[in-house]
Amino acid sequence: MRKILYICCRTKNCSSIMNSETYIHNPNRYESMNYRRCGKSGVLLPELSLGFWHNFGENHDEACGLDIVHYAFDHGICHFDLANNYGPPNGAAEERFGRYMKQSLHTHRDELFIATKAGHLMWEGPYGDWGSRKSLIASLDQSLRRMNIDYVDIYYTHRYDPNTPLEETMQALVDIVRSGKALYVGLSKYPPEVARKAYAYLEAHDVHCILYQGRYNMLTRQPEEIIIPQAHANGTGFIAFSPLAQGLLTDRYLQGIPDGSRMAVNHFLKADMLTPSLVDKLSLLNEIASRRGQTLAGMALAWLLRDERVTSVIIGASSVGQLKENLRVRENLHFSEDELTAIDNVLNTNG
Ligand code: NDP
Repeated sequence: MRKILYICCRTKNCSSIMNSETYIHNPNRYESMNYRRCGKSGVLLPELSLGFWHNFGENHDEACGLDIVHYAFDHGICHFDLANNYGPPNGAAEERFGRYMKQSLHTHRDELFIATKAGHLMWEGPYGDWGSRKSLIASLDQSLRRMNIDYVDIYYTHRYDPNTPLEETMQALVDIVRSGKALYVGLSKYPPEVARKAYAYLEAHDVHCILYQGRYNMLTRQPEEIIIPQAHANGTGFIAFSPLAQGLLTDRYLQGIPDGSRMAVNHFLKADMLTPSLVDKLSLLNEIASRRGQTLAGMALAWLLRDERVTSVIIGASSVGQLKENLRVRENLHFSEDELTAIDNVLNTNG
């Protein structure tokens, strides 16, 4: 599907093919993906989206990242999830994405649904963090410059700011939509009682909140209680982040902590999480997955997508191989009642 220009890749686990101007997209890319509607909006998103939290900072090979992005796009993943602070350092993932846009994706801008966010510490001083109007608007302008784009498809408030009036944060989102710098807006990690007020404020100002982004995976099921039903009732889609619990819900840690894994190199996934009882649980889940003819990663993603109210899951991948494996989720999305019960029994085991 593409002409290839080989450039040396420093990352050993990625057979990189750097291919900027020579990249030719796969004409059949939309055939292998399902698209789900964001709540009651007009927007469809792929069941799998690609996240840039890790794997696109200065500590990861740029060519390898481009391969991942191309592979994703070639397989119908047209939603890319970024944030101002993704890196490291802060802003590096957006800058890299901006280069990818310039190199090979700009001709496909209208096929892409690009997200960014503001709300976590980005720059020093009183305006580089949280949810003031000043911070959200300045941060979006920076993000657009870094990403080489004129607008984002969705702009999120990355987290609730208890010290800024909710009305100020929401009005900033409304004004951003009016300015044309974002087409849609979303909430990330808002507590349910605040999300309810935020949805209502936006609705009252003719800006429908199309997505709630929250952590949801087999090991973190809280969104099932209020967040997902609440979003659904509001006509808001739910998009899950860290669907593989940062790699725990794969075979990556069944035999210990491999070199180069997120747990080995990154403080966001701490080694003390990997208790013997968690490894037992993961091994049991892995056995259920094998019986379904799936990897644990595939089953973990399918399990999230069993709920039609989940619009999409945002996966991370440190190699094309991982992405390839995760895309195979679509080969078995169905769960029998017995399988769901067996999974619940494992997940409900204490320890
Ligand atoms: P995942 O739970 O999908 O974890 C991704 C990591 O799991 C990969 O980097 C890789 O780690 C490992 N992995 C993935 N697939 C496989 C596989 N098939 N086999 C073995 N290991 C695998 O998602 P993330 O935690 O990365 O989050 C995804 C996205 O969600 C982020 O990029 C971001 O866009 C969004 N997000 C949003 C947040 C918010 O506050 N709104 C917070 C966090 C994330 P390894 O490096 O070890 O190879």
